[in-house]
Amino acid sequence: MTANHSKVLIIGSGPAGYTAAIYAARAALAPMVIEGMQPGGQLTITTDVENWPGDASVMGPDLMMRMAEHATNVGVLRVSDMIVEVDLSRRPFLAVGDSGTHYTGDTMVIATGASARWLGLPSETAYRGAGVSACATCDGFFYKGSVVAVVGGGNTAVEEALYLTNFAEKVYLVHRRDTLRADRTNQARLAANPKIEPIWNAEVAEVLGNGGVVTGIAIRNTRSGEMSNRDVAGLFVAIGHDPATALFKGQIHLDDEGYIRIASGSTGTSVAGVFAAGDVQDKVFRQAITSAGMGCMAALEAERYIADLNARTTASSVTVEGNSLA
Ligand SMILES: Cc1cc2nc3c(=O)[nH]c(=O)nc-3n(C[C@H](O)[C@H](O)[C@H](O)COP(=O)(O)OP(=O)(O)OC[C@H]3O[C@@H](n4cnc5c(N)ncnc54)[C@H](O)[C@@H]3O)c2cc1C
Repeated sequence: MTANHSKVLIIGSGPAGYTAAIYAARAALAPMVIEGMQPGGQLTITTDVENWPGDASVMGPDLMMRMAEHATNVGVLRVSDMIVEVDLSRRPFLAVGDSGTHYTGDTMVIATGASARWLGLPSETAYRGAGVSACATCDGFFYKGSVVAVVGGGNTAVEEALYLTNFAEKVYLVHRRDTLRADRTNQARLAANPKIEPIWNAEVAEVLGNGGVVTGIAIRNTRSGEMSNRDVAGLFVAIGHDPATALFKGQIHLDDEGYIRIASGSTGTSVAGVFAAGDVQDKVFRQAITSAGMGCMAALEAERYIADLNARTTASSVTVEGNSLA
C-alpha cells in the first residue's frame, strides 16, 4: 500500500472527525484525517462555548486547537486537503483530494458536517456571533431577560422559539407566510406559549445594530411591503441546514434533506465499512458533544469492522454487504 493508505480514513476535522481520529489512533489503527477547508470545523467561527463538559467557558477555536493537538499527540496523521471525489464501490475506499492526491482507506469515517442556511443579508453577516445565531441550544443562555426573534416556519424554528422562552422575556417568530410548516404538536405548543408572538407574512429586511451588537430588526411585510422595526437583542435564523454530502450522492443512502442515513443505534451507512458521524448525519441535536460522541462510535465500529474483516479474510474469501438501514 502507498503512504496515502490508512486503515481508517477520516474526512472532516470537526469534533466528530477529531474524536474518531483520537479513538482510532488509540486502537493502534494509525488513522488519517483530511481536514478540509475549515480545520476544526464550525466551532472555529464562534467565540464562547459554554456547554463543553469540563470547560465552563472555552473559546471555540481554542477547544478545536486542543482537539487537533490531542490528535497529533496520539499519532493521528492530519492532512491539509479537501476531498473532491470519492469511490465507495471499490476496496479499499478511495478519496481524491483537491491537491490531486489519492487517499485510500480500509474503512472511512465521513465527518464533513453541515452548515446553517442564512438569510444572505450583509448586516446579518456583520453581526454573526454578536447577536445573530443559528443555534438556540448554543446561544440561548446569553439572552436571559431579553427580547429576541426567530426567523423560520418549520419545526426547527418553532422548537428554537420554544426553547428560547426558557431565557428570553419575549420571542418574536418571523415567518414569510401566514401558516407554519411545523407539525401540529409544535403549533399547539407555540399557540399555548404567551411569550411567543408570531409575526406573519414578514421577512427580516435588515439586522440593526450599534456597531457592536444587535439592537433590532427591520421587518418587511411580504404582502404590503410595509416596513416596521422591532427592538431585539438577538436574532436566531432557523431556516434549515445543508449537510456537506454532495460528494457522496449516488454512492451512499441519503435522506430527502441530504443527510447520510445510518443504521439504528450505529454510525454504519448503506456501505459496509463506511461510517458517518456528527452533523452530516444528525439533523436533531447538532452539538459538538453529540458529534464527538458519534465520532467515538464510528471509530469503535471501524475497529470492529476491521477486526471482523481480518478474521473472515483469514478464514476464507468474504462477501461484504451494506448495512440494513432503519
Ligand atoms: C457559530 C456556531 C456556534 C456554535 N456553538 C456551539 C456551542 O456553543 N456548543 C455546541 O455544542 N455546538 C455549537 N455549535 C454547533 C457545533 O459547532 C456543531 O454541532 C459541530 O461542530 C459539528 O461537528 P462535526 O464534526 O459534525 O462537523 P463540523 O464542525 O461542521 O466540521 C466539518 C469538517 O468537515 C470538513 N469538510 C467538509 N467537507 C470536506 C471535504 N470535502 N473534504 C475534507 N473535509 C471536509 C470541514 O473542513 C470541517 O473540518 C455551533 C455552531 C456554529 C456554526
